[in-house]
Amino acid sequence: MGTIATQKRHLPSDQDASGRTLGEAELGRLAEAIGTGTLTSTKGRFVKQLEERFARTLGMRHAIACSSGTAAIHCAVTAVDPEPGDEIVTTPITDMGALTPIVYQGAIPVFADVDPRTCNVTAETIEAALSHRTRAIVVTHLFGNPCGMREIQQLADEREIPIIEDCAQAFLARSGGAFVGSLGALGCFSLQQGKHITTGEGGLVVTDDDDLARRVFLMVNKAWGYGDEKPDHYFLALNYRMSELQGAVALAQLEKHAEVVRHRREAAAHLTKQLDGVPGIETPWVHPDNLHTFWKYCLRVDSEVIEGGSPGLGAALAERGIACAPRYIQKPAFECEVFREQRTFGNSRWPFTLARPEALDWAPERYPGSYQGLADILVLPWNEAYTEEHVEQVAQAIRESVRGLVR
Ligand SMILES: *Cc1c(COP(=O)(O)O)cnc(C)c1O
Repeated sequence: MGTIATQKRHLPSDQDASGRTLGEAELGRLAEAIGTGTLTSTKGRFVKQLEERFARTLGMRHAIACSSGTAAIHCAVTAVDPEPGDEIVTTPITDMGALTPIVYQGAIPVFADVDPRTCNVTAETIEAALSHRTRAIVVTHLFGNPCGMREIQQLADEREIPIIEDCAQAFLARSGGAFVGSLGALGCFSLQQGKHITTGEGGLVVTDDDDLARRVFLMVNKAWGYGDEKPDHYFLALNYRMSELQGAVALAQLEKHAEVVRHRREAAAHLTKQLDGVPGIETPWVHPDNLHTFWKYCLRVDSEVIEGGSPGLGAALAERGIACAPRYIQKPAFECEVFREQRTFGNSRWPFTLARPEALDWAPERYPGSYQGLADILVLPWNEAYTEEHVEQVAQAIRESVRGLVR
């Protein structure tokens, strides 16, 4: 009976209204924006306000809005201005939108291994990937769980290498008390449908550095020097602008931001408590300096204890109507065709033709943490509409499934 009842109750989803906070406030702002008749951010006030408020929320000097998280990463990489063939150390467990901008900018993504507990890069794995050609380090705070930033910052400071923080999944997460995004040279955020706050698509870049902010602004605006005495198109750049319509929605979303994060954290804490003592399951490990804001709730499954490991438990949960994703991504990014076959510009394979051979050595034995991490994780969708009842429904399904699979 219990199982049949759970199958009928749908969990809220971030892909539709059930798991999103979109409503009257967003409609109101949108009507205001449309009423002004000015829908471009170069002339309007909504995107400007969003930028001011987002910067203030994080206690930073600058926030620059753009069209997506991918655009945000591209702008951050452009701000650092790598020479063709320069290396940018990053992670193989991330969204492709964090990787392809590096290649578009003519730089080589060099993949650091990850800690299998969090699937995050660490100071040790980054250090092993550095070379004389490293121009920047991208850290991704995966699932909303920040990297060990104190150690990473120390390493980056010693080597004088700027850090780009990919915070697309980690709104208001903290490390050492500070918001992620404020710890590196630049921080990047996404406002895509499934992120903590959404405008369907959208992005933000934050920085305290005036020169980097200027370069990001220019990259968003075809490098046209708006407001300059003798403006020109100063360098190679694109139109990555956010529209006023998105800016209006984002402004309303931003006001709900702290509440959204609080709900996600409370629901996650409840699940962690509910899963206490369940054999073969590890709840999220958080570095002692850090605060996790739960874009997703990522379990680790011990295949020595649970028959079939993460995929086995995932299948059992799916039978009970609980959506989940074993592995998160099917394979480390370097196994995707774009990297494996170096499919870039025509048949040139550029910029990979400029790379040191070791930078492209993706032998599995160099990535034990990444393969182990992906094999063990089971990612549960998460959002701010989860009530205690929803969480208990998930927990019960996990307990029942584990009972059936424990060796
Ligand atoms: C979503 C995401 C991106 C890309 O953002 P888009 O808005 O989808 O382009 C980049 N990095 C990470 C870690 C993400 O989760």
